[in-house]
Parts: sequence; C-alpha cells; structure tokens
Amino acid sequence: MPTTTIESRPGTPASETNAPQPERFGEIALRPQTLRAIHHLNWTSPTPIQRQVIPVMLEGRDVVGQAQTGSGKTGAYAIPIAERIDPADLNVQALILTPTRELALQVTDDVKSIGRGRGLKTVAVYGGASINNQIAELRRRPQIVVATPGRLLDHVGRGTVRLQHVTKIVLDEADRMLDMGFLPDVSRILGLLAAERQTALFSATMPPEIRGIAQRQMKDPVSIRIDAPAPTVDTVEQFYVEVAEEDKLSALRKLIAGDGIDTALIFRRTQHKADRLATALARAHVNVGVLHGGMRQGARLRALRDFETGKTPYLVATNVAARGLDLPAISHVINYDMPEDVETYIHRVGRTARAGRAGTAITLVSQHDLEMFDRLRKSLGGRFRRHGLNVYAR
Ligand code: AMP
Repeated sequence: MPTTTIESRPGTPASETNAPQPERFGEIALRPQTLRAIHHLNWTSPTPIQRQVIPVMLEGRDVVGQAQTGSGKTGAYAIPIAERIDPADLNVQALILTPTRELALQVTDDVKSIGRGRGLKTVAVYGGASINNQIAELRRRPQIVVATPGRLLDHVGRGTVRLQHVTKIVLDEADRMLDMGFLPDVSRILGLLAAERQTALFSATMPPEIRGIAQRQMKDPVSIRIDAPAPTVDTVEQFYVEVAEEDKLSALRKLIAGDGIDTALIFRRTQHKADRLATALARAHVNVGVLHGGMRQGARLRALRDFETGKTPYLVATNVAARGLDLPAISHVINYDMPEDVETYIHRVGRTARAGRAGTAITLVSQHDLEMFDRLRKSLGGRFRRHGLNVYAR
C-alpha cells in the first residue's frame, strides 16, 4: 500500500478537509476508523516508541517498554488495543492500570479519543471519587477500563466489574506502582484475568521487582527501550551557597524561611544522613518527610503521598527519589549534600524541570564539596549563580 501523507490545517479534523484519508500511520497499516481517530488528535506520524511498540502489539506479543511519560507511550498501547478488540463484544476486554488518578484521567482521554473511531467505550475507575458514578458508568458495558489498582479491586469485590474476559492488560508506569506499594494489588488483579492474554508493561526505570513481573507474568516479551532525551537542566535556575559543613542546617532553615520556598526536595547522600536531617528539621518545626531505600514500602508510600498532597511540603530524600519518580510540581531541589557525579546532579535537578516547567536548584557547597562543584561547573558551563543568602547574618 502506498503511503499517503496528508496535510491538514492544524486543528481541522481530516474528515472536514478535502484531502484523502491516510492509509497508514507512518508505516503502520491501521483500520480507517482508527486512523481517523488518530487524525482527529492531530497526530500526523508515530513517535519513536509508537513506531516500535504498535506493530509488535498488533501481532499480539507481550511488550516491556522502557519509556518516560511524554514519549507518546499511551498511544503506543492504546492504538493496538483499539485496533484489536471487538466492538461487538460488550465484556471488558482491555484493562490499563495506572498508579495515580491523574495518570488514569490523562490516559482515559487518549484511549477514549482513539477508541471512539471504532465505537469503543472506555471508563476510568480511580480512588478519591464517587464509586456510585463509576458503578453507573461500568453498567454501560465499556470494553476498556482504565483503573488505579485499589479502586479496581474495590469494584471487583462489589461485583461491579468482571475481569475474566480481559485479554489485554497494560501496566503503565509500573515502577511508580511499585514505589506506591501497589504491586500486591497488581498481582491479585493479574490473577483475575483471562489466562490467554497479552500483557504490556511500561516503566521509566526497571528495578528488579519490575523485571520480576516481566519474567513471571509475561510470555517471551519483546523489550523496547526508548532512551529519554537527556534530562535537561536548561530551564532550571541554578544557585549555590557557600557554607561550612556544620552550618548547612542553619543555611537550609534560612533558605526555607527566608526565600519563600514553599515546597522542596532536599537531597542527602545516605539513608542515615537523610533521617538525621529530617529529625533535625522536624525539631525546628519544619513540616518534613523522609524518603529512602531503607524504608518499608508502606512508609515510602506514605512519605510520597504526604509530599504529593502537600501535607509535608518538604521531603528529605536519597538518590532513590532522583530517578524514576514523577513527583509533580516540585519548585525547588536543594542539594544539601553534593551529588556524587554530574549525572546524579542532572537527575536530581531534573526533578524540578519536568515537562518544561521552570524550577530552582540550590546546592550547598562546603569546603569538602569544592572539587565536585568545580567538575559540575565545568560540565554544565558556568550556569551557577551565587545565591543571595547570607548564611552568617543574624
Ligand atoms: P504520553 O507520553 O503518552 O503521555 O504522550 C505525551 C503527549 O504527546 C500527549 O500530549 C499526547 O497527546 C502526545 N502525542 C502522543 N503521540 C503523538 C503523536 N504521534 N503525534 C503527536 N503528539 C502525540
């Protein structure tokens, strides 16, 4: 089939132009209804992850995709799902699990838009919203359900959703589900699905627990990895404060109090140091949580939630928190301890600048840190400005 490219004015759905319908999405042949739906979204060609994942999922194979939010991964699984399920079958055939309500809503938007082409119904079920409305929506026989694990199990328990006909399951942001303590729920849910099923797992990082799921729950999965564009610090304002090691605590308190820092992720190098700093701040009546790899799952989950909801607007963390977690809207990252290397610095500081948001990073530099700081400055090219804080003023 020849590839037809079609140009339409931005915002004008293809169906309203005189141009012919495209027969393919990039190189990928799809049903006209699905192509029309994609075109309505103004997606003119597949993103790299879509180019790789869609053909493999269309063949019915399992997929492990390492990709970040922003790569187009939702379309990568939503398109083959919409393409392959049967609109005449009113059972739930596809299930997409997400760690948070926000992601569930975002995913639902895209899945609805794509599935609409073939007349598919999609319903979102997530915690923190009326269960009765969701029950009413589930009665309308959706073929696709997007869910957070806890609320989905609640519906299963009430008999308001049946999962035994689910033949396509997506675990989206699997590492985040792990961080939030949802893996036992996810395992229970997997046990309720059709035995013959296609499983797709997407995760920004691949900790051993996630690899374990891939090994146990998936059949000969195809691994697809799309390297994220290097995290950028370009949109981050970067400051440093020169301070003696023993005065770092007082500098931090002054920063928080005097600099209008409403919320911050504060990095320490070891678990023990993170705990000590959190205790010291709490004693000084700073509303602070702590997050590191030595904590039990439940405690990590609570710390994350409390930070996300603003209950503890400051979070002291080790590098565990620097990777993988998509903590929303962090305005400030404070390097209380200097990162071990440039890459770690970029990952830490990248926490503030997600999705193009601007942020501020402040690095406390003591005598011991000068060598590393010099390396940072050389690699990042003179972007650091001295912070106006006078550590030693009364
Ligand atoms: P995601 O990584 O799935 O959250 O997608 C990131 C953003 O890219 C979303 O706003 C999508 O609507 C958009 N997007 C996904 N696929 C495409 C595409 N092929 N062309 C243009 N935009 C896309």
